[in-house]
Amino acid sequence: MAGAMLLCGKEEKVVGEQTKAPGSCPYCGGGVAATDVEAKWVLCCLPLCRRAKRRFACTACHRRLVTYPPILHD
Ligand SMILES: [Zn+2]
Repeated sequence: MAGAMLLCGKEEKVVGEQTKAPGSCPYCGGGVAATDVEAKWVLCCLPLCRRAKRRFACTACHRRLVTYPPILHD
């Protein structure tokens, strides 16, 4: 069971949603949406680190584009 994982783990909070990203889906050619996620690693209620990252997903087929080229510069 996952009971031992209750106090430790990773929390993710979506801080920005559905930002339109340049490029197109490699699977269907649809539009790409970027979602900004703030990930926080929590160990027994102590926040260890906080990290913002951006996720890309297709707006047409809803695939998560994990291999999408990272666009780190805004
Ligand atoms: Zn697609």
